[in-house]
Amino acid sequence: MNREISTKLFKQAEQILPGGVNSPVRSFKDIGETPIFIEKANGAEFIDADGNNFIDFCLSWGVHILGHNHPNIIEAVKKALDKGISYGTCCENEAKLADLVCSCYPSMDKIRFVNSGTEATMSAIRLARGYTKRDIIVKFDGCYHGHSDSLLVSAGSGVTQINEASSEGVPADIIKNTISIPFNNIELVKEVFAKHQGQIAAVIIEPIPANMGVIIPQEGYLESLREITQQEGSLLIFDEVISGFRVAPGGAQELYNIQPDLTCLGKIIGGGFPVGAFGGKAEIMDLLAPNGPVYQAGTLSGNPIAMAAGLAAISTLIKPETQQLIKKNSDNFIELLTQNLPAETTLNHIGPMFTIFFSKQQPQCFEDVQQCDFERFREFYKHMLDSGVYLSPSQYEANFISAAHTKDMLDTTLKAIEKFFM
Ligand code: PLP
Repeated sequence: MNREISTKLFKQAEQILPGGVNSPVRSFKDIGETPIFIEKANGAEFIDADGNNFIDFCLSWGVHILGHNHPNIIEAVKKALDKGISYGTCCENEAKLADLVCSCYPSMDKIRFVNSGTEATMSAIRLARGYTKRDIIVKFDGCYHGHSDSLLVSAGSGVTQINEASSEGVPADIIKNTISIPFNNIELVKEVFAKHQGQIAAVIIEPIPANMGVIIPQEGYLESLREITQQEGSLLIFDEVISGFRVAPGGAQELYNIQPDLTCLGKIIGGGFPVGAFGGKAEIMDLLAPNGPVYQAGTLSGNPIAMAAGLAAISTLIKPETQQLIKKNSDNFIELLTQNLPAETTLNHIGPMFTIFFSKQQPQCFEDVQQCDFERFREFYKHMLDSGVYLSPSQYEANFISAAHTKDMLDTTLKAIEKFFM
């Protein structure tokens, strides 16, 4: 496959953009390839600058559960554009989208829109600290919540003791109030709560982690987290930026029947535009400015184009026929994939998201994922790319099935996978 033009464009980009990109994982650094420059996308496919066609399982990192360029979203955006691009003041669609989202998430009485998942989690944490009047946040290794300072933390050597910033430029003073522990180990959670009694503001978690590849929460794990946080007067924050509107219209909280105190959303809810949101019980949300003392703001928050796109995306997505289509596509694909993968791999999947791990054992946490055969993953990734299948470019990422993946696309993908393992 000729990717000359992408290579040339990347070289040019490297001169002016650090690493040639505006977000690190796009650089393909993990797989040692030059990133692909997309010319245009439609449905579950895109064409690159060299004219190559790809079946897309990354879908803008999970945004396009309906496929790229869904006609309902395009129409809504075109209509909204005619009325102005940004007002910096109120428009009706903000409350309409809020109503629609909250109707799917009984844990949310109220919601605030922001511009990214990072803003959603950062603001939810400030709100949790303001509400509980406590400082410490507990998170889990391998769960990603965006790039705000207090969340760029990974466990240091003594697991529940000292944490390290996962980025330079994050002051030790800021992360001293964040504790990061391994996922799927409830005993460690109990230890942390015993050690920091009355000081933990919140536990933030991807209820179904997707940023260390898809990891399945052990039975009872999320329920125990709910119980412990409730007993200890800490808030439970579900970061459903990826699982929200994907594993069920009401996200992981619907799937597992657990009500968190705060929920963070992103990706799908903007229909492809930069939207994030956080929400919860009115008693907590009303602490936000202007009602309360917890400050949070945004010039472009609730942007009219983004709200129109979000409304079109969510109302299309929650229709029973769309849900059935996504389920059918996922079930068919996952069933065949399960039959075709050899013992050197493990397939983790929930609903329309999956990761093929190059590991014989099923990874349960970040440490397990680190044991995968990354060299083999790289070979696999390159083979798939050359076969016209664009997967998320890292072993630490999830892949997504959409309403727009046709049977032909899924068959082509399965054939390419089969060929690699022959
Ligand atoms: N939370 C989760 C679970 C995510 O996967 C991401 C991004 O991938 C974020 C938060 C941050 O979102 P954004 O990249 O929109 O800032």
